[in-house]
Amino acid sequence: MREILTAGRYFRQKFGCNVYKTPISILGFTCPNIDGTVARGGCVFCENESFSPNLGVQKIDKKFLLNPSSASNPFLSSQLVQLEGQYNLTRKKLEKKFNAKKFLVYFQSFTNTYAPFDTLKALYEKALSFEDVIGLSIGTRTDSISEEVLDYLAEKSKTKEIWVEYGIQSVYDETLQRINRGHSVQNVIDYITLTKQKGIKVCAHLIFGLPGETQEMMLESVKKAIELGVESIKIHPLYVVKRTALANDFKAKRFTPISEQEYIDTLLKTFEMIPEKMMVQRISAGVSDETLLAPKWCENKHKQMFNIKQAIKQKGFVY
Ligand code: SF4
Repeated sequence: MREILTAGRYFRQKFGCNVYKTPISILGFTCPNIDGTVARGGCVFCENESFSPNLGVQKIDKKFLLNPSSASNPFLSSQLVQLEGQYNLTRKKLEKKFNAKKFLVYFQSFTNTYAPFDTLKALYEKALSFEDVIGLSIGTRTDSISEEVLDYLAEKSKTKEIWVEYGIQSVYDETLQRINRGHSVQNVIDYITLTKQKGIKVCAHLIFGLPGETQEMMLESVKKAIELGVESIKIHPLYVVKRTALANDFKAKRFTPISEQEYIDTLLKTFEMIPEKMMVQRISAGVSDETLLAPKWCENKHKQMFNIKQAIKQKGFVY
């Protein structure tokens, strides 16, 4: 049996205790392919409104959106309060439910390096100052991170656990265009390479079941992530939620979601390819409410994970 290096195992080996990520959504953040900088409407599967953060919102104008050139940020102090509120709330839940002892503040929603450096620095420094925080995980796009931010994170990496999470999704430009991703595969390669050169750990996000993709293409994306030397991957099936461009394609029968069988088969082939030291942070995803249109097997995350784990076990892997 081969043990997959899950996040739980990785952090327990490294820190000797249960370490959990605390997801954070900061109002005022957006994405360059939502605000029109590289595209409008966002990725075809992104229900932008579902990302609207509503935890701990205080005195922040919902119309206020940052970008790297914003001249000022009148809501920074409110954002810092929001950050602290969300951290404390999630931390308590994780302590109670999972006996979590240490935490990684996970800037999750939207593009978390898409703001002026001063704002980013203030938020990251604040997060790192919280009790029992060992580091940061920052979700972003490869077309939205500056060398200034990378240098800052590289410096922090010397003493803290710093991760940058980039959405690769696919290594095919035609797929990226089809999902309105707003950047090229070359951009992904360039910025993951640069991030790694600076000594920062990278987690790559991949989606199986993107429009027009065969299993061979999905596995090619896995292969490229391995070649780029990313330390971790997250994989999930593409599902369709209401109020997205993908929902229109699905209703018009222009898009057929991946089957559970094909997803699991692709996942097993992925496990056979990845190096033992690569951390696998996620292998499932779904929505258990009325916003999910398809596929049905993504509506019950527990059942989905149970089926995945059964198949994994039969193949000789422990997840
Ligand atoms: S990059 Fe992320 S936040 Fe931006 S549109 Fe795509 S999925 Fe949505």
